[in-house]
Amino acid sequence: MSTSPDHATAVDPELSTRLPELREQYAALQARDLSLDLTRGKPSAEQLDLSEPLLSLPGEGNHTAASGTDVRNYGGLDGLPELREIFAELLGVPVRQLLAQDNASLRLMYDCLVQAVLFGVPGGDGPWSAEESVTFVCPVPGYDRHFAICEELGIRMVTVPMTPDGPDVEAVAALVADDPSVKGLWCVPTYANPDGSVVSEDVARRLVSMPAAAPDFRIFWDNAYAVHHLTEHETKTANAIELAAEAGNPDRVLMFASTSKVTFAGAGVSFLASSPANIDWFTEHLAFRSIGPDKVNQLRHAQFFGDAAGVRAHMARHREILAPKFSAVTSILTERLGDAGVATWTDPDGGYFVSVDVAPGLASRVVELAGEAGIKLTPAGATFPYGKDPQDRNIRLAPSMPPLAEVEVAMDGVATCILLAAAEAAAA
Ligand code: PLP
Repeated sequence: MSTSPDHATAVDPELSTRLPELREQYAALQARDLSLDLTRGKPSAEQLDLSEPLLSLPGEGNHTAASGTDVRNYGGLDGLPELREIFAELLGVPVRQLLAQDNASLRLMYDCLVQAVLFGVPGGDGPWSAEESVTFVCPVPGYDRHFAICEELGIRMVTVPMTPDGPDVEAVAALVADDPSVKGLWCVPTYANPDGSVVSEDVARRLVSMPAAAPDFRIFWDNAYAVHHLTEHETKTANAIELAAEAGNPDRVLMFASTSKVTFAGAGVSFLASSPANIDWFTEHLAFRSIGPDKVNQLRHAQFFGDAAGVRAHMARHREILAPKFSAVTSILTERLGDAGVATWTDPDGGYFVSVDVAPGLASRVVELAGEAGIKLTPAGATFPYGKDPQDRNIRLAPSMPPLAEVEVAMDGVATCILLAAAEAAAA
């Protein structure tokens, strides 16, 4: 991942001289009557088509798992062993410590938090709801839905900055060390949403071993993009579960993953991996909620992939579709804004997003200008708790969904909006 140029700070006053020219460009953009959308990180129809054979699997008369279980029936709370085996290898965890559940890993994150609030977690003193306050450390910019869960459950959020190696580990350590209300940290270790950064082995080691005032401190290790590479180099996620066990904190990490952006976003399979104690804790409560997951869907996924190599080969096909869209984003930004000093942006090696920082105070104006030109962007502030970016500078771009030609038009328009917002600020 690289960022270019190094820092977008104040706008160069000279830019005001370009205001008339940029207003004309913007008027021409508006005249095109566009209707483009770079908001949510969804797979495109072309990507969904890669998994079309799933729709005819496992097929009539084909409903017996490797163990002889009839997948049409109740039971098998942990998920189908043959599917867990494939993903245990990909996620670097023992099969015993990996559950396969229904679609949406977000639901597993939500359930873990709700269970913690209602019942407490192993190693803790009881339900988190009995505490005077519960705090989560939120690296920013981050994933809006993580923050929304905390907000809904009344969990206080404190922010730490992201770095190219993951969350600022010194800032996390300082918050976690003395305050027993700090019960959790959100972390997207690989190709983070939205800045694409990857947690280094060193940072992972620090996170799992740092002293915590709360005995039941948990890292919500959301490995959503573990296999979603945009280059041929397949970055390996640090094995936080193993490292935590080595550090004497085996229960600290809850890892989440899913096939939402591997097969079907609305009909995939989700995974929870953790220590044996945490897996037992989760399933003990899960047993009240379900008599077993959708094993038919799990069987069709296992048959479709065959093995871990099958998943990797499938992800290479996603990469062929996605990589040109991401390179269009970064090359258009470089071409249009490269030497203007008005923004910095990430150039991720995987995941679903590009994170752009404009000069402080301008993100909302850029999103507004883009919207009025028919280019829908994620609302400014969405990458921060409570939807409030204190500096109003971060914008998350999601280029996966529109066709390449639309990404190119949209990004050229976004560049015009960034330049115009900066020129307006320079002239003010
Ligand atoms: N985690 C992160 C970091 C995401 O970016 C997303 C989707 O954008 C999700 C989780 C959602 O995952 P799922 O579809 O498995 O609920």
